[in-house]
Order: sequence, then C-alpha cells, then structure tokens
Amino acid sequence: MQIDMESWLKDILHKMLLTASPSGSEEQITALFAEQLRPFVDEVTTDVNGNCIAHKQGTGPKVMIMAHADEIGLMISYIDDRGFLYFKEIGGIDTNLLPGQRVNIMGQQGLVTGVIGKKPIHLQDKSENTKQLEPEDLWIDIAAKDKSEAQSKVQIGDVATLQGNPVQLNDTLLMSRSLDDKIGLAVLMGLAQNLQSLQTDKDIYLVASVQEELGARGAKMITEAIRPDIGIAIDVTHATDYPTMSPTKDGDISLGKGAVIPMGPNMSKGINQQLISLAKSNGIPYQIEAIARPTGTDAREIQVAGTGIRTGLISIPCRYMHTPSEVVSLADADSAITLLSAYLHTRE
Ligand SMILES: [Zn+2]
Repeated sequence: MQIDMESWLKDILHKMLLTASPSGSEEQITALFAEQLRPFVDEVTTDVNGNCIAHKQGTGPKVMIMAHADEIGLMISYIDDRGFLYFKEIGGIDTNLLPGQRVNIMGQQGLVTGVIGKKPIHLQDKSENTKQLEPEDLWIDIAAKDKSEAQSKVQIGDVATLQGNPVQLNDTLLMSRSLDDKIGLAVLMGLAQNLQSLQTDKDIYLVASVQEELGARGAKMITEAIRPDIGIAIDVTHATDYPTMSPTKDGDISLGKGAVIPMGPNMSKGINQQLISLAKSNGIPYQIEAIARPTGTDAREIQVAGTGIRTGLISIPCRYMHTPSEVVSLADADSAITLLSAYLHTRE
C-alpha cells in the first residue's frame, strides 16, 4: 500500500528545502514548522534554545516523535585584506567536496552568494590534486573588492549553506541539499495532518529539534523537559544501493523499498516488535538495518535522558548523505507516515 505524498506536503517540503538552517541558526525553519503544525495540534511552543514542540493533548501515554531542524553548514571565521572569506565547518562536512561549490551566506542584510574557489586543474601540482583538504586550505569568493566591502556584507560568525535546490528526479525520487533531516520534518507534518482522523488517547508531542548535527544537543534538552514515556526519532540513514557501497559491510538498504526500522541497543525491542507487526498487518513496506552501537541520530540522546526512555527510530534511506545532492524516495517518507500513524492509532 503506497499513497502518493499529497501535493501540500510536497509543497511544504519544497519550501523547507529552500530554507537554510545550519545548526544553531534554525529560527526560520522552526517558524515554518510551527506555522504549518498549528492547525493540527492544541499548542505550539518554542524553548529557550529554539526546539519547537507541537502538542496534541491526550490522556494516554506521552509519545514524543522528533525530527531535527538543523542541517550541516559553514561559519565565516576570517576575512582577509582582499575580501576573501575563510570558514569553519558546522557538522560532518566532506571538505574535499567543497571546491567549486556555490554557497549562500546568511548575511545581516540578506543572502550573499559566493563560490568556494580553487586553482584550475591546468595549474595544479600533482600533490594538490590528491591532497586531503582542510577548511583553511579553502576560501569563499563573494566578489568583494577588498576587506571593507566584504565586511559590509558579511560578518565573522555568519553562517552559510551550500547551494543545492530541490530537483524532482522522477515520480518519487527527490534530490536536494538538507533532506537530512527535512524529509523527517515532512514526515512529522504528514503525521500531524493524520492526527485528526486517528482514534488515539496518546498524549502526542511532535518536535523539531535543534543542533542534532553537533551531537543531538536539542534532543537532550527537549527529552529532559518533556520526559515522554516513549520517544521516537525520524532521520535519514544510508541507502546502500549504489556503486562503492557494500551490503556485506554496510547492510542492504534501497531507496523506495520502505521506511527503515533499525535494530540495536539504541532502540527498545518492544517498540521495534510493535512497529514490525504493524507494518506487516497493514501492508506497509519496511526494511531492517542493524546498528550495533548508539545511532548517530536524536535517538541516542532520547534513550539516555533522565532515568532512560523507551526509544524508537524510523529512518528514511538516503543516497549521498551530507552532500548538496542528497537523494530520497517520497514513497519511503509515505511509508514512515503510514507506519507512525498506525502506531499512534494503537492503544496500550
Ligand atoms: Zn540527520
């Protein structure tokens, strides 16, 4: 059973993908999240660090479902006399991928476009070609004539994202920057829309967390504050269905074959069993991944908050994670929405 992702959800996902949200600068995306969820819940609040919480009251167990609002990015750290900008990386950036990329800097007066420069291939030594790059080897060129012109547009501490606007590759596959984890936010929105038609007594919190890419920092704060009975994270995981990936090493995960239910110590066995049996009985496509350590998601901090929280994780397969051209299947996001809706529908 696969429902086509409705057009309003596609539209809002598109809007989110055009909104920059490097870790620590999630204000615009959480404002959008709040605005979109407000009609479906009783209350939307934002905490002191920017985590956004949509609450639908119920008398049953407290269930928190979370996706992260932030994305990887760059932060301007130095401007030289000729007006070239140097930067630090926010989150897990593949530095060798940066040369030649276009960037949008969130300047005080608006977006500033630049390019991460590199000496042309014709002029490089052999060693320059094979070198592992460090951020300080690179610079951003915003076409400023000198330092003071650059400073009039960009300040030290301003953040930036790589350009990578959404492109629909075919009926179901979408390519964009920051699908990690805006596809997770879209799943939360689809779920919020379904809340009206669900019969559930659960006390439901739908959360957009901040600073996941820096170590699930928002998840930690918000789980301590809400103290849910159950916490479920929604994030992307690595698809392994392309060259250089190895099923024997990386597992067997494909785009379009359903949401992923990861197994491992970070997830409660009871929740996983429940999700799998719901997927089976409702004909919802799903895939299984083995993660033998704390996951690199919000689930890691959710599980160990307070005296411990029963934790689940649902992942959307993603090719080329943390590049400006991440690829996911909207059908997998649909599977996640259907599965989570079925989960909320159950009584315990
Ligand atoms: Zn993520």
